[in-house]
Amino acid sequence: MKIDFHCHTRASDGALTPHELIDLAVKYSVECLAITDHDTTAGYEQALDYAAEKGVQLISGVEASCDWRGQTIHIVGLDFDPRHAGLQQGLADIREMRWTRANAMIAKFENRYDFNLPNLSEKIHEQVAEGVVGRGHFSQLFIEAGLVKNTPQAFDRYLKRGRIGYVKSEWPPLAEVVGWITAAGGVAVIAHPKVYKYTSRKLNMLIEDFKAAGGQGIEVVNQPHASSEIIGLADRANAHGLHASLGSDFHRPEHTWRGLGWLAPIPERVPPIWQLFKTPIKGLDH
Ligand code: MN
Ligand code: MN
Ligand code: MN
Repeated sequence: MKIDFHCHTRASDGALTPHELIDLAVKYSVECLAITDHDTTAGYEQALDYAAEKGVQLISGVEASCDWRGQTIHIVGLDFDPRHAGLQQGLADIREMRWTRANAMIAKFENRYDFNLPNLSEKIHEQVAEGVVGRGHFSQLFIEAGLVKNTPQAFDRYLKRGRIGYVKSEWPPLAEVVGWITAAGGVAVIAHPKVYKYTSRKLNMLIEDFKAAGGQGIEVVNQPHASSEIIGLADRANAHGLHASLGSDFHRPEHTWRGLGWLAPIPERVPPIWQLFKTPIKGLDH
């Protein structure tokens, strides 16, 4: 059975509306899905009735940004109460911070004589629409304007630390974000652990701090095919007593290397994340 616990809609920086995402899940036979938009549950809420109608099981989800020892880490929250006031206030604060950062970035670009993209502020607002602003929207705009070819190029030339559009983010601390998720009855998961490019030792440090804060899961599977990387992460999860999650991080259909639900199975040597859920997954023995 196909499961995907990490994907995005237009409620954050994805290309599809929540309904279009559900249609895609049906098309790809994904039976259980967590919509994990950046710092909002709006897409999940908009998809609920439609998913039920289409027979796709939705688990509540979010991908929250946080600070760990001066670096940005993404934590996926799963199977929490989406009405929990503390969690929703925390996410609202992050969204406000994201606009503060985006406006500072716009001001930096506008003040550069060698950067020429007229009406940047207006275009970013159009690009974001009802979503949650992030650097991905700048990157997508720059691609569409022909300034760069792809997302890595946009970050390399304009958005990463040391480039003209870089503005430091003031994310809440890791422990705080994990605390919101667990207070809302959910399970916290370290998202895409390989993206941070940490040494083994540093990843272990992150895991230890995450566990001390109440975190219980790590994304072991982000890829379509079984690999030594997945086995390595499964062993690491076991060594630290974490449960394994899986998610494609789907954002848009043209990113064909991150297809919705296109994921290798979780290795049997590690307990799957749904064992910690209050919501039983239909069609699975717990
Ligand atoms: Mn994103
Ligand atoms: Mn992420
Ligand atoms: Mn993501």
